[in-house]
Amino acid sequence: MSRALSRRRFLMATAAATVAAVPSRASELASDIRHWDMTVDVLIAGSGAAGTSAAIEARQLGNEVLVLEKLLKLGGSSAMSGGVIYMGGGTPLQKACGFEDTPEAMYDFIVAAGRQHPHLDKVQLYCEQSVEHFHWCVAMGIPYKHTFTDGKGLPGTDDSLYYSGNELTYPLREIARPAPRGHVPGVSGWTGGRTVMAALIAAAKKRGIKYLTQLSCERLIQQADGRVSGLLVTINGEQKAIRARKGVVLACGGFIHNREMVKQYAPELYNCSVPWGNMADLGMGIQMGIGAGAAAIRMDQGFSIMPLYQPTQVLNGIVVNQQAQRFVAEESYHGVLGYEIAYNQKGQAWLITDANSQYGYDDYRVKAVAQADTIDALAQQLDFPEGALQHSTSYFNRHAAAGEDPLFHKAKAYLKPLTAPPFFAYDLGVSSAFFPAHTFGGLHSSVNGEVMDAWGQPIAGLYAAGRTTSGLPTSPYIASGISVGDCTFFGRRAGRHVGGLV
Ligand SMILES: Cc1cc2nc3c(=O)[nH]c(=O)nc-3n(C[C@H](O)[C@H](O)[C@H](O)COP(=O)(O)OP(=O)(O)OC[C@H]3O[C@@H](n4cnc5c(N)ncnc54)[C@H](O)[C@@H]3O)c2cc1C
Repeated sequence: MSRALSRRRFLMATAAATVAAVPSRASELASDIRHWDMTVDVLIAGSGAAGTSAAIEARQLGNEVLVLEKLLKLGGSSAMSGGVIYMGGGTPLQKACGFEDTPEAMYDFIVAAGRQHPHLDKVQLYCEQSVEHFHWCVAMGIPYKHTFTDGKGLPGTDDSLYYSGNELTYPLREIARPAPRGHVPGVSGWTGGRTVMAALIAAAKKRGIKYLTQLSCERLIQQADGRVSGLLVTINGEQKAIRARKGVVLACGGFIHNREMVKQYAPELYNCSVPWGNMADLGMGIQMGIGAGAAAIRMDQGFSIMPLYQPTQVLNGIVVNQQAQRFVAEESYHGVLGYEIAYNQKGQAWLITDANSQYGYDDYRVKAVAQADTIDALAQQLDFPEGALQHSTSYFNRHAAAGEDPLFHKAKAYLKPLTAPPFFAYDLGVSSAFFPAHTFGGLHSSVNGEVMDAWGQPIAGLYAAGRTTSGLPTSPYIASGISVGDCTFFGRRAGRHVGGLV
C-alpha cells in the first residue's frame, strides 16, 4: 500500500470516527414542544432498584409519580441480580446472628478497600444510615431470614447473611474490624434479585405509582434557562412529550451492552467475555444527561469478575501473570481478582494447581490448558519466561510450608505447598474464561441525586441514581451488594429530594 493511500485511509477512518463521536441528540427545547401528552410531578426513567426506590420515596411525599420502562418486564438488571445488598453498622440481622458492627468499621472498610478517592460524602451517609436502610428494605417487604453462612460466595441456601466481599483479606482484616454485611433475601437459589424487585415493585404499585412499559426515553426537555422539565419518549414508533412539574430522575442502568461506549470509555472491560446486565444497559440515561449538559465521571470503572471459587480447594493454587509471577492473594473477592487481571495484567492470568487443589471436573468458568508431572514441564507448555514459574512456585511452597505468604498474606486456610503431581494450569484470561463485566461510571451526582454539570453546579430539575451515576461502586469492586445498596439508598434520596421540591 502506497504511503499516500494509507494516509487517505487514515483520514477517512478518523473522519468517520469523529462524526460517530459527535452526540447526534442533545436535549430538546421546551419552547419547541407544541403539545404535552401527559403531565406528572415526578418522572422516572427506568424501573430497576434505583428508579423504583426513587419512585417510592417521591410518592411518599404525595407526588404523582410515573415510571417509564423500555422493556416489557420491570426490574432491569436489579431483578437479574443476586439481590445482595451491602448493609452494616449493626443491622438487626447482624445482631441476631451474633456479629458486632459499627458504621465506622463499615466506612473504614469501604474507604480502605476501594481505589483512590472514593466519593467520601456518599460513603459516610451510606454507612451512617445503613441500619435505617435495612429497616426500610424490611418495611418494603424484602424477606430476610436470621441466619448466617460462612460459605464463600453468594449463598445458594436460604441464609440471609454472609461475608460478601474482601473483609477477611490482608490488610483489610487488620484495618477495619471485619463483619459480614452481605444481606440477601432468605430464599434458596441465586435469584435474590427477583425477590428484591418483586417486593419493591409491589410496594410501589400499592402506593399508587404508575408504570408504563415498552417505551423508550430518548431525550430530556429543557427550558431556555437549562431547567429540565420533561422527557421525549418513543412509544410504538411515535414520539410523545411527557412533562414533569418537579423533575426527572434518570435511572436507566449502565452501558455494558453499548459496545462503542465500552470501547471508548472503559476499554479494559471490552474483551471481558460476558457483558453482564439486562439488554437495555445501553447507556441511554448517561447520554441523555450528557446531552443536557451533565458531567460524566469515572467512566473507565466497572465490575470485572473472575469467579475462581467454588470449590474452595482451588484457592490453594497460585494465580500468576504472563511473567509467571503472583500478583494477588488468591482468595480475594472475585471483583478484586477480576480487577487485577482485567485492569493491571492486560487481561491474562493462569491458575496453577497441583493434584490436590485442581478443580477435578470440567468447569464452565475456566478451562485447563496444560497438565504435566513437573512444574518445569508445565512452564514449558505455557511458554513462560525461563525459570519464572519454577521460582514463583518454589518461593510460594517454601513459605506456605511455614504457614506464611510474605508477598500477599494469603489466608492461612489456603496456604498449602503445591507438591502433588500432576500439576495443572487453568486459563483465567478475560476473553477465554467466564469473565462477566458491567460498568460503574456515570453521571456526576450529589448525595441527593442532583445531576451536576461540568462546573459542579446542579442542573435544575435533573436527578439520577444507580448505575446511570458514578456512586459507591468503583474499581476494584470490593463486595457484592454495594451496587444494589447504592441504587436503593441513593435512589431513595433522589426521590425524596425531587419529590420535596415545590
Ligand atoms: C447476574 C447479575 C448479578 C448481580 N448481582 C448483584 C448483587 O447481588 N448485588 C449487587 O449489588 N449488584 C449485583 N449486580 C449488579 C446490579 O444488579 C446492578 O448494578 C444494579 O441492579 C443496577 O440497578 P439500576 O437500577 O441502576 O439499573 P437496572 O436495574 O438495570 O434498571 C434500569 C432500567 O432502565 C431501563 N431503561 C434503560 N434505558 C431506558 C430508556 N431509554 N427508557 C426507559 N427505560 C430504560 C432498563 O430496561 C432497566 O429496566 C448483579 C448484576 C448481574 C447482571
